[in-house]
Amino acid sequence: MKLGLEGRTALIGGASRGLGRGCAEALAEEGVAVTLVARTAEDVARAAEEIGARTGAKVQGVAADLATEEGRAAALKACPRPDILVNNAGGPPPGNFRTYTREMWLKALDTNLLSAVELIRLTLDGMAERRFGRIVNITSGAVKSPIPVLGLSNAARSGLTGFVGGIAREVAERNVTINNMLPGQFDTDRMRSAHGLMAKAQGVSSEAFREAAAKRIPAHRFGTAAEFGKVCAFLCSEHAGFITAQNILLDGGAYPGLL
Ligand code: NAP
Repeated sequence: MKLGLEGRTALIGGASRGLGRGCAEALAEEGVAVTLVARTAEDVARAAEEIGARTGAKVQGVAADLATEEGRAAALKACPRPDILVNNAGGPPPGNFRTYTREMWLKALDTNLLSAVELIRLTLDGMAERRFGRIVNITSGAVKSPIPVLGLSNAARSGLTGFVGGIAREVAERNVTINNMLPGQFDTDRMRSAHGLMAKAQGVSSEAFREAAAKRIPAHRFGTAAEFGKVCAFLCSEHAGFITAQNILLDGGAYPGLL
């Protein structure tokens, strides 16, 4: 199936590695001109070079912190009129909510809620005028099943989910869609380091912990950034214009509920 994305432009947050990179790879494969954003200049430049060389697509990297106004301005300067916006950044740290400080709360809300709200505010009307737009927010399976030690993440992502639900229908007739992708456990740097910490707390090896964690998922494995990226590319495709305001869970069957 051709996704009809040749010649489109995409701005992708948190894209030097992990899920954001998976989205960037899949969109570049479809001929999208991709702008990757991450804070570490060396990493984002290397990722842009590798993706460009592999796919032949136009790929540029921007070193910027999307949790800041300056960072978002730098990203939009490099990609002023994106047809596709993938909102993504690193997740907040785990912990007991009793220990969270106001600074920690503000950082989580800046990074995982307000950065997406602001990038949507700055790009949505242009997409609506041009009668094509695809916004995908990478949130978390924790929106459906909050994880007790991830209070900062649970709160910020649920806030974004509510915000998106409130605005998505406003632009649907203009062929602009806004959807959220909810990852369960994907095999990325972040997940590997979280598993390492949990293994240490339980006094078991990282390998043993990961093997047991994967077995608890009905698919008996973790997801890959590549398969996550392909779903993102489909949601951005010309075929997905009738899918909007949805929360799409990708978790290998881990969530046990019907809806
Ligand atoms: P990851 O492997 O840690 O990658 C995060 C990416 O975001 C990196 O490119 C990082 O590069 C960049 N980044 C972090 N903070 C940023 C910021 N403020 N501005 C711009 N770029 C930033 O993470 P991941 O596993 O792909 O996860 C992506 C998102 O999905 C996270 O929010 C995570 O909490 C969420 N999630 C992941 C899973 C999973 O299974 N992996 C499950 C549920 C939710 P720099 O550090 O250089 O900026």
